[in-house]
Amino acid sequence: MSEHGLRARLGRTLERAGASIVRPDPRRLDDAVLTPLPILQNEVGGLRRLSEERLRVFLLAVLLHLRQQGGILHPFLDEYVNQGGNTFVLGRPRHMPRFGPASRAPGFYSDAALPRTAFERVLSSSGNRAWSAGWASACFAELEPLVAEYLDRIMPPTLTALVCAGLLEERCIARGCHRVWGLRPDALLLSLNVERLRCARCHHEIAAASDEAGYWEGAPCLRVFCGGAYARARSDDQAYYRSLYGHGHVHRVVAREHTSLLDRDVRETMERRFIASGRGEGWPWDPNVLSATSTFGIGR
Ligand SMILES: [Zn+2]
Repeated sequence: MSEHGLRARLGRTLERAGASIVRPDPRRLDDAVLTPLPILQNEVGGLRRLSEERLRVFLLAVLLHLRQQGGILHPFLDEYVNQGGNTFVLGRPRHMPRFGPASRAPGFYSDAALPRTAFERVLSSSGNRAWSAGWASACFAELEPLVAEYLDRIMPPTLTALVCAGLLEERCIARGCHRVWGLRPDALLLSLNVERLRCARCHHEIAAASDEAGYWEGAPCLRVFCGGAYARARSDDQAYYRSLYGHGHVHRVVAREHTSLLDRDVRETMERRFIASGRGEGWPWDPNVLSATSTFGIGR
């Protein structure tokens, strides 16, 4: 979930290597596009000539941005979401990574500013420097130059349609009775056919499922002040990692400390398992890297 969400664009991930990607269920997206189209055409003056294709790109990016912020409603995040982005609760389960004050935490959409959280306000344009206002401008400015002023009329029907189509889930949270939106995990489908698109102006890259890539061609850059547009990119430079993830045998590093502080029995067992691992006779979870002080190593 993290590999395709919060950490999807950090390092050699499956998505960046072009090995796989998760994308919104296309049938649900079809439903989500049709409902708000007439509402926006009729109720936001400058959007009378809004096309289905442009609205689809707008929704795709709203969903993509949320996924890249880690806004997927996994049950592990229920309490975190209910407490409006309190990172302290993320560290309670022992299997979860620690989130410090400087850690990048999962972000969700919210109807109000929640200070000191990764949650993004999406409904209002007043004094709003949020990504959603910039994205609405990038997407619709050729139809209505002042479109960011109408964000409070664009986002509510959009979010409602995404909820009704089963792509997003809306929750009322305990902190301040606010509404929060996150991606439903069952609305995300894994695709192994990945294409890369690159902004012609700033070279920002995105990945998309192959049958979704056509919608992104010519779409405005997600760096909302760039003004460029995406075109399909060659992805040969990622071929090594895509091949490795697709066909290679990945060996997990199992590291242990080899120190005089260990009991003799524990240390000798570790040594036997390490030697067996080196001969290819051990179990996958046997240590294959030992960290030892040089003095202890020489003494042995
Ligand atoms: Zn760009």
